[in-house]
Amino acid sequence: RYKQLTTEDVQKFGSILPKDRMLVSKELGGSCDEKDLEGFNIDWIGKYKGNSQVVLFPVSAQEVSEILKYCNDQSIAVVPQGGNTDLVGASVPVFDEVIISMQKMNKIRSLDQDSGALVCDSGCILESLDDYISGFGLTMPIDLGAKGSCHIGGNVSTNAGGIRYVKYGSLHGSVLGLEAVLPDGTIVNNLSTLRKDSTGYDIKQLFIGAEGTIGIVTGVSILTARKPSSVNATILGLNSYENVRSTFRKAKSQLSEILSAFEFWDTKCMEITSDHFKLAKPFESDYPFYALIETSGSNAEHDEEKLTAFLENLITDEIAQDGVVAQDTTQQKKMWTFREGIPESLGKLGAVYKYDISLPISRLYGIVPDMKQRLIDAGVYAEKDGNPVPGYPVKSVVAFGHIGDGNLHLNIIADKYDPKVSSLIEPYVYEWVNSVEGSISAEHGLGVMKANCLKYTKSPEMIESMKQIKQLFDPKAIMNPYKFLPNE
Ligand code: FAD
Repeated sequence: RYKQLTTEDVQKFGSILPKDRMLVSKELGGSCDEKDLEGFNIDWIGKYKGNSQVVLFPVSAQEVSEILKYCNDQSIAVVPQGGNTDLVGASVPVFDEVIISMQKMNKIRSLDQDSGALVCDSGCILESLDDYISGFGLTMPIDLGAKGSCHIGGNVSTNAGGIRYVKYGSLHGSVLGLEAVLPDGTIVNNLSTLRKDSTGYDIKQLFIGAEGTIGIVTGVSILTARKPSSVNATILGLNSYENVRSTFRKAKSQLSEILSAFEFWDTKCMEITSDHFKLAKPFESDYPFYALIETSGSNAEHDEEKLTAFLENLITDEIAQDGVVAQDTTQQKKMWTFREGIPESLGKLGAVYKYDISLPISRLYGIVPDMKQRLIDAGVYAEKDGNPVPGYPVKSVVAFGHIGDGNLHLNIIADKYDPKVSSLIEPYVYEWVNSVEGSISAEHGLGVMKANCLKYTKSPEMIESMKQIKQLFDPKAIMNPYKFLPNE
């Protein structure tokens, strides 16, 4: 279906971009070997690996337009790439698609200090944007563990959620406008900084979460928030998932407007992460669950009073068994390492099967014991006194998540990716999610991993509409092929 790249194609790219903004394999007349291209061909978890021979680094929408127009005319498949922190195999090629990396398109275009509207190139790193606007008393409405590497364009393209979702909501609300290049090279500039605009179809929404399948996002206009002057963080030790739920309900009613994050994880996640980062656990005793609650406000005294009263209530009512409040920003950072360091720590233990699912909060953790039991029954996992028994293909089944958003990260750690283990996990995990009317992807997207599982969340009519949208924007299907939509 797609054209195999030739040296003529590479020459054409060389007429659009200077040589120092292209990586080309020796086979196609460049100087790169496999190692030089590896960082672009392999995903963050090391599960998906492509074999692209060419990586292009445009710095303007015009350059992206010329590249895409040529690829479209020649039926050359492409993969847009941001920070390559994606977890579903969406950001790396499946075969030898050309990678269009946005990492050198990273300028801030404007900041409106009245409205907080920030306009920037899509290749800006999330953390750099936060650092920049913090000088103006502002903060990004999105934050996630990969903030030091992921791009705002990647965040938009995956509809990333993260830890501030509970306070600032979805990117579908905070993105004000986008500049995007369509596969035929058309530049659609809708970099509006307006908060309100009711003039017809909201085309930008289609690009939010499109995973690079209908065009390349080159610019983003996003509504930033006031940087809170008072931030508090606390970690709680809890005896049951029911207590985690009750704590969340109480946090919503008692901390209400200052509640800015509510994360939880299980005891195994705590053990693995504290071991990996060599951090002392927050409490002398171990608990089945931990919750990290953050408050953000503008009046330190008021916020502390509220948090203290809330914690006292929790302990008195025996909902939380233990609690500690960070005394300064260093302690806050350490608390966040327990939570944000989980993905990295799990990844060091073996092959990780990652599931990012949306479920009713009441059912959120239920899938973990069910999955464990299924793996035990199949003889690939065993537990003694609640701890995994070594020597089985599956080493651990753990979970953590953004409880405030009904989003669980279920992680199954195995000694290697193995078809037998995979077939025990999937489609069971998706059927389970479907049975409680959840979503098979809360925030990571579909990529290669879930393209063929879309039916567990979307009806046939919705899938058909998605296919029609794809056909409209990308009739030659050059954008990020083999992903996102079920394969024909
Ligand atoms: P990439 O990984 O490069 O690409 C992701 C997808 O977007 C691909 O389909 C790619 O083709 C497309 N794309 C990238 N840039 C563009 C563009 N400019 N135009 C069009 N398409 C584009 N995700 C969450 O939602 N919440 C979390 O809390 C979270 N935590 C994480 C923690 C860790 C440690 C890691 C490694 C990942 C985490 N993620 C999380 C997943 C990941 O960071 C997000 O999906 C992120 O938004 C991806 O951004 P990126 O720039 O790395 O995009």
